Amino acid sequence: MKFQEIYGHKKLIAILKSAIARNRIAHAYLFYGIEGVGKKTVASVFARALNCSGEDPPCDACPSCLRAEHNNHPDIVSIQAQGQSIKIEAIKEIRSKMAFRPENKKRVFILKEADKTTVPAANALLKTLEEPSPDNVLILTTARPHALPTTILSRCQSLSFAPLHDDEVSRYLQEKQGIEKNEAEELAAASLGSIGRALEMKKEDFLTTLQQIFRRLAEDDPEDMTGRIAFAKMLGKQRDEIMHRLAIINSAYRDSLAFRETHEDSRLVFRGYRKEIHAIAERLSSRAILRNINMIDKAVDALSRNANPTLTLESMLVKLL
Ligand SMILES: [Zn+2]
Repeated sequence: MKFQEIYGHKKLIAILKSAIARNRIAHAYLFYGIEGVGKKTVASVFARALNCSGEDPPCDACPSCLRAEHNNHPDIVSIQAQGQSIKIEAIKEIRSKMAFRPENKKRVFILKEADKTTVPAANALLKTLEEPSPDNVLILTTARPHALPTTILSRCQSLSFAPLHDDEVSRYLQEKQGIEKNEAEELAAASLGSIGRALEMKKEDFLTTLQQIFRRLAEDDPEDMTGRIAFAKMLGKQRDEIMHRLAIINSAYRDSLAFRETHEDSRLVFRGYRKEIHAIAERLSSRAILRNINMIDKAVDALSRNANPTLTLESMLVKLL
């Protein structure tokens, strides 16, 4: 896989390519951004480029690129959590491998979900970062950089992966997954910028849930508490699931706000649900919509700080206009 085959992240890729061209490779990188946005893909292509001996690396044709393509490259090592955490043994293994020269140009360790390192593992990792060696590059990927000790963060070159544009997610779904345009656009809008999430939603038949959420929003009535309780159930059980659905509702509210201000459908993220968006825009004033967005932001914030999901949703739903 070559850099130009990656969807989005053009600026980050330019930074990495320029580092290779100028031979200014950091000894440790932190790739952070939402799940499924492409951190691991970029890390993997960067690792290939660092070892490639062809033109415009990675060339996809030299012996090193071919070994990487077949997942048996001796110098590209992926580490991920075993169960819930990355334990010290995994970091010790990195350290013992680092003692030897790589077979190709650089040995690259890709530490996935680096925030899952246990405290002893994080301490061992810090030691590794404090003793950089020119033959080795560490790439940490995470959706929760704040869960990592600042001592580790400060020793990495950080690259922030922004959510992808809807069009990029939609293009990926059509070109790589053969999903037809309308469905791809709907999944892309609901993915909030993550190809990984779009694929998961496709697998779970999430679009049916999405339809229900929009219907509920269009018919929502603050006086109808039974309806609101049914709405709470629609938002799921698990924290991540609820947070994602709340983010979709906020996106729907923002669409209604945009429609109220401009009366244009072309600006909507959820163009496929314009009827429902219009209904929300008709029922609520701009000020009320902003208030609802604020309430939902507060609930998402509380959930990210481990608040009880049921209580948080209930208290949010009684306050929504
Ligand atoms: Zn190559």
